[in-house]
Amino acid sequence: MSGPVSDDEPAPQAIRKLQPGTLVIASHNEGKVREIRTLLAPYGVEPVSAASLGLPEPDETGTTFAANAELKARQAADLSGLPALSDDSGLCVEALGGDPGIFSARWAGAAKDFGLAMRLVHQQLEDKGPTVGRDAHFVCALSLAWPDGHIETFEGRVDGILVWPPRGTRGFGYDPIFVADGHDVTFGEMDPDEKHRISHRADAFAKLVSAVF
Ligand code: IMP
Repeated sequence: MSGPVSDDEPAPQAIRKLQPGTLVIASHNEGKVREIRTLLAPYGVEPVSAASLGLPEPDETGTTFAANAELKARQAADLSGLPALSDDSGLCVEALGGDPGIFSARWAGAAKDFGLAMRLVHQQLEDKGPTVGRDAHFVCALSLAWPDGHIETFEGRVDGILVWPPRGTRGFGYDPIFVADGHDVTFGEMDPDEKHRISHRADAFAKLVSAVF
């Protein structure tokens, strides 16, 4: 049985607030940078992309979305001397054991061909037979790192199903094959404002906003 909490026990660390100023967006993915800029617009920070500062893309050696988000934000904050926000995200397909998951970008190959990545997902589901489930979800981990070593991480998720063939030219990545629960259109067909309200990135962002702004 555990005893009373000791007076010596450290108090839980308060979440640090982000002060107005420049914020590095630690991503080289144009689609993500665009969405993060839109989500940040109301909060009085000046976003600057890692690419425009000439920062390198780190190897994503983590085994979770959160670990990869943290290493990207940490590197950008260390190299720039500014707070940095990163996003690690991906599509998890239940019938594929969560693949492509943290390897979502890699399934598109060096040419970043998401037509190819979507065909691979579709083919792997087809190989499992006609009754295979089409459930999937997107995950987004957002990390905010400060140059002094402090870091905060928030995770969001949106559930849905996969469709074939791909539909729509809005959004990016796997958007044309993903239909969120309660919707009829794919993320590739959806009005971007609507995607910003319901996506995994919006979910993680809402948690970040209520904590750090
Ligand atoms: P990473 O976070 O840089 O490893 O890349 C994640 C990959 O997941 C992206 O390149 C996209 O292919 C995919 N992804 C993440 N978020 C979305 C989204 O909102 N829509 C479509 N694809 C996404």
